[in-house]
Amino acid sequence: MPAHVRHRSERIFKTMDRRASKKIALSSHIVPPLLAWYWKNARPLPWRADMTPYRVWLSEVMSQQTRIDTLIPYYGRFLSALPTIRDLAQADDETLFKLWEGLGYYSRARNLRAAARVIEQRHGGVFPREHAEILKLPGVGPYTAGAIASVCFGAKTPAIDGNALRVVARLAEYPGDISSAATKKIVARALADIYPDDAPGDFTQAVMELGATVCVPTGAPKCELCPLSADCLAHRNGTAARYPIKPLKSPRKIVEMTVLLLCRRNCIAIRKREETGLLAGLWELPNIPEGIDAQRARNVARTWGVDPVEVASPFTRKHIFTHIEWRMTCYVVACRGVSERFDWATADELRERYALPTAFRRCLTGAHQAAELSSSCEFRYFE
Ligand code: SF4
Repeated sequence: MPAHVRHRSERIFKTMDRRASKKIALSSHIVPPLLAWYWKNARPLPWRADMTPYRVWLSEVMSQQTRIDTLIPYYGRFLSALPTIRDLAQADDETLFKLWEGLGYYSRARNLRAAARVIEQRHGGVFPREHAEILKLPGVGPYTAGAIASVCFGAKTPAIDGNALRVVARLAEYPGDISSAATKKIVARALADIYPDDAPGDFTQAVMELGATVCVPTGAPKCELCPLSADCLAHRNGTAARYPIKPLKSPRKIVEMTVLLLCRRNCIAIRKREETGLLAGLWELPNIPEGIDAQRARNVARTWGVDPVEVASPFTRKHIFTHIEWRMTCYVVACRGVSERFDWATADELRERYALPTAFRRCLTGAHQAAELSSSCEFRYFE
């Protein structure tokens, strides 16, 4: 790298007090090329066509923990069903969870509705403009509040997500733990210091877009396409693979469980989960938190008030949450009786009406065995 470029990099990015990781100093020199790149290369995402607060808010919440190409159809369906904040505030559990089914992290949907109710009750149905007020809404953290205030209302409030953290950590070779609250504050301060007056919302999006499409989280960053490569310490020093600094992951907790697919005629038994905890308030297939054999599965079915005729050989399914892994042993049980402790749903009803988490939908694909067990069982489920 030519000496004048190297010196410029050193002048622009100084990580102050590296040991203590107290401050990152970015220069406003990076703003014009980043904005120019964004205006030319921004992906035409649906919410970018109409940057109203409700749409931006929904997109930001959906995009947490979910890939953009996965969420786009969800986003469209959600807005068609609940086009306004008022519609969202009035949505019942079944409608809300069905729209969210398959996205996971269902507390996001609950919080969206809780916040919509606050907006209706305290703000007359109008989305608050001030960052501090947005931050008070249920489920809205600094990232989402920063994004909405900046993109919708022109505030100079960074939205510090994984993309922004990664970009800044590489630009400055920042040595601190990327997951710490202190690092997030340091990165936010560094970006806040260089916000442009004329396009704060675009700057917020440009940083995140660069992280999502060029300074990518997996694989090598595409530095050859990056508008900031001349000013990036990690690129200059060939250290991009080392940044950001991440903590070691603790191993997932393994949870063994048994799922019973209780089938009768063209229906299967489902029940509601508890109102708190993982997948709260959603529907589930009856299950117990341990691995059991076929005889015990039959006994358990009996204690639940169904009359088991046959139990099929078990099959297994696995589902991974962020910190937990469910290892499910599944028994299809052909039943005669219909216990009132369960709801009995047809395959069509499961598809159209009940919000059944992906973990349990995976089990349903084995339910065709019911027909092999008993001539009176016809339950089958196809995605
Ligand atoms: Fe990321 Fe490479 Fe751009 Fe640096 S030059 S910000 S490492 S893509």
